[in-house]
Amino acid sequence: MTDLILPTYQDVEAAAQRIKPYATKTPVMTSRTANQQFGAELFFKCENFQRMGAFKFRGAFNALSQFTPEQKKAGVIAFSSGNHAQGVALAAQLLNIPATILMPIDAPDVKVAATEGYGATVIRFDRYTEDREQLCQTLAKKHGYTLIPPFDHPHIIAGQGTAAKELIEEVGELDALFVCLGGGGLLSGCALAAKKLSPNCKIYGVEPEAGNDAQQSFRAGKIIHINTPNTIADGAQTQHIGQYTFALIQKNVDDIFTATDEQLIECMKFYAERMKMVVEPTGCLSFAAAIAQKEQLQGKRVGIIVSGGNVDIKHFAQLISQ
Ligand SMILES: *Cc1c(COP(=O)(O)O)cnc(C)c1O
Repeated sequence: MTDLILPTYQDVEAAAQRIKPYATKTPVMTSRTANQQFGAELFFKCENFQRMGAFKFRGAFNALSQFTPEQKKAGVIAFSSGNHAQGVALAAQLLNIPATILMPIDAPDVKVAATEGYGATVIRFDRYTEDREQLCQTLAKKHGYTLIPPFDHPHIIAGQGTAAKELIEEVGELDALFVCLGGGGLLSGCALAAKKLSPNCKIYGVEPEAGNDAQQSFRAGKIIHINTPNTIADGAQTQHIGQYTFALIQKNVDDIFTATDEQLIECMKFYAERMKMVVEPTGCLSFAAAIAQKEQLQGKRVGIIVSGGNVDIKHFAQLISQ
């Protein structure tokens, strides 16, 4: 692990230049109701309004735009429960690169349809019995595809970090930043940006309580593997964080919190009712943990990365009517 070359803030800056003509500079929203209820100033970075509905486009485009001509010709392969699939598919379409995506059989239909809509070839697999990384590598070898993993890659991490870069450049320094956490690409990238642009900012990752592998890893000082967790946060059902992401999290992140499905549903309702936004369950992790830390955050300036909004509308209706 010591020989990993970790991405730096300079890589986030370079990524920002690469994605600028293609990615949306997403809005930073505020809510008087939230600020009043909270007793703090909250800044929501709304990646649910990013192209393809989540921050994943940032990392995917940054990675694919650095392919060699040979890599571009052969194509890209990725595995994903959803948003990374769409991010890679859209970036590939924009860059004229053929894309093959492995998606779980139980991935939300809306995510599968969107991925195919961007022109990618989708192959479904059973995530409870099949090893997707293995499957992916076999296909990559056979066809010469370049594998772009969902989080553990320096170009992915640097791309995701542009979300926090934009947020802090727009609103100024923060006291705390809450970031949704699955494999840790978004968190480790955002931490690079926050450490540079707002050096006193506390940086927190938030994962589902049912799958707190990153919290366990953070505390144990080594990567802990768990079984696929059962949670409505389908974008954070990772079994372990990555080598790059773990190293960066250990270095730059202050703590890792968890949120229950019930807390996520409360946040979904808040976003829908008060802020008129559709946020997917995984995208609610950051705010859910901030609410739980309310007392420590009194009077502070708090950034909340709202990571995505891709949720099947019927499922959304079911969840918020519970
Ligand atoms: C992928 C994803 C996450 C988790 O991101 P990591 O980089 O794997 O930690 C969080 N929220 C949404 C909406 C996602 O698509």
